[in-house]
Amino acid sequence: MTRSTHETHYLIAGASHAALAALHAIRLVDDERILTVIAKDDSLPYSPTVLPYVASGRSTPASVLLRDDRYFADHKVNFLRGRRVTAVSTTERVATLCDGTRIRFEKLLVATGARPVVPAIPGLADVGFHVLRTLEDATRLRDCLSGARHAVVLGGGLIGMHAAENLCKSGVRVTVIEMQAQVLPAYFDADAAALIERAFAEAGVALLTGSRVERIIAGTPEFSAEIAGGARSAGDLLLVGAGVVPVIDYLEGSDIAIDRGILADDVMPTSAANVWAAGDVAQARDFYGSAPVVGGILPDAV
Ligand SMILES: Cc1cc2nc3c(=O)[nH]c(=O)nc-3n(C[C@H](O)[C@H](O)[C@H](O)COP(=O)(O)OP(=O)(O)OC[C@H]3O[C@@H](n4cnc5c(N)ncnc54)[C@H](O)[C@@H]3O)c2cc1C
Repeated sequence: MTRSTHETHYLIAGASHAALAALHAIRLVDDERILTVIAKDDSLPYSPTVLPYVASGRSTPASVLLRDDRYFADHKVNFLRGRRVTAVSTTERVATLCDGTRIRFEKLLVATGARPVVPAIPGLADVGFHVLRTLEDATRLRDCLSGARHAVVLGGGLIGMHAAENLCKSGVRVTVIEMQAQVLPAYFDADAAALIERAFAEAGVALLTGSRVERIIAGTPEFSAEIAGGARSAGDLLLVGAGVVPVIDYLEGSDIAIDRGILADDVMPTSAANVWAAGDVAQARDFYGSAPVVGGILPDAV
């Protein structure tokens, strides 16, 4: 195991939308000092927003990449991929990676995004369900699609609906089960949601809104999702799109203040000196309100 210590001026943890926007902004004003970007994913940066198209085969993994190696070379960036930050000491200004490497930094941007929430539904752990956040998730889902006939999607949010559209276009029968009275409750009012629901229904997607899944009953080849009240929806492919939470576990014990996400001010400094946070990991004021929120959308990240 490597235990070397490296020095960098700027360290960016994460290599997606927030990280790449920050990298670009830094290089506009400073093209000399050392800049290091670390990504857990062992791939070039990609946008999670297009993963449903990779899952359905309408896009290839190669076509959804946001930057290439040449970009990092041209911008004098050390891009370390396939490596996870496992701890941060803000007093020592050191980030430790999963292979034991230590990186001493002057300024740190935390942009490690979000990961899927897996709800505590009885029986869920007994079936091989999918989530959709990484390129690996998308290719795994794509590889299972040819044998699937009926997909059940838990959650009618951004990820669930985007995935449902693509599963449907792949020729799979799709049922979306959403707890709230409408789809996309975090983004649209009831009128707009009704237009979207109609378009999905016309495409053949079954939408069960106002429906809470109480348990999953495993079976071969089909499982069943049991809804409060006793109705059941059977399928042979289960996708969980029940929301996301910021990736902040590795900051435990640091002095970076955290509520639901990393608390950040308007220009994204955290409570710790020389540490900033941006993107789905951050909890900050958005464009419309004054209370700090975890945005979870691409424009906020950028
Ligand atoms: C299927 C899907 C559809 C979506 N559709 C839309 C949409 O239509 N519109 C919209 O606005 N938004 C959409 N979003 C949300 C959007 O993708 C996110 O808001 C955006 O990607 C957030 O960017 P980010 O840079 O904060 O983090 P992320 O994109 O989550 O990237 C996190 C980065 O951090 C890295 N990382 C994670 N943990 C570590 C670690 N410990 N150490 C080092 N690196 C780490 C990862 O490798 C990755 O590079 C969608 C998301 C999904 C999954």
